[in-house]
Amino acid sequence: MPRLRLRHAVRAALAALVPLALLGASTGPAHSAPEAAWPEPVPVVSHVETTDPVVFITIDDGWHHDPAAAKLLLDRRVPASLFLLPGAYSYDSGYFHTLLNQGRSRVENHTVNHPDLTALDAAGQQAEICGARDRHLARFGDGPRLLRPPYGTYDATTRTAARACGAKAVVTWTHDLTTWGSWTPPTPQLKAGDIILLHFNETVTQDLERALDLAEAAGLTPAPLREYVPE
Ligand SMILES: [Zn+2]
Repeated sequence: MPRLRLRHAVRAALAALVPLALLGASTGPAHSAPEAAWPEPVPVVSHVETTDPVVFITIDDGWHHDPAAAKLLLDRRVPASLFLLPGAYSYDSGYFHTLLNQGRSRVENHTVNHPDLTALDAAGQQAEICGARDRHLARFGDGPRLLRPPYGTYDATTRTAARACGAKAVVTWTHDLTTWGSWTPPTPQLKAGDIILLHFNETVTQDLERALDLAEAAGLTPAPLREYVPE
């Protein structure tokens, strides 16, 4: 197919999906619809500009359902952003239902299959992002509004596809505080608006405790990231 026609075909396919995205987003709070059929690329956020003394706790993937981590999130009323993979709640969604229903956590978008999105074309990226949105919505009754691309890798197409799938931002991170095996991440000096990355792995509870202690030492309180990212 000639490149020009291919581009038209992709554009038409994306445009056809926009009404679906708007339909999905219309249940969310204060959503303003983009006027153009071709969606505007969403911003990329690695740190939130704010003078509020807040930090943002984000936890990715969701494979290890650690009861102690859930207890900590609930006891401390932490408004965590959970960038879950549908496969990680397919065998036990109760763990996350409890966090959503009894706590302040929200489920956000981390794609369906955790690919490097930059290796996919527009249709492939949209399938990954809208697919995860649809599964989250069906399972939890709440559509994600933030997209964290796997490995933090994204391109211009990711930002457009994210908008078409109801996201308002691509979110990376300021500090990765995940412990992997015997490797412990360095201790950062946290600042207002920093986004902390954790994972639901074997050390999630100690990593979460460490993040909360660092925040407290810096005079910062965890806040809901979705509400700090503008529409
Ligand atoms: Zn991940």
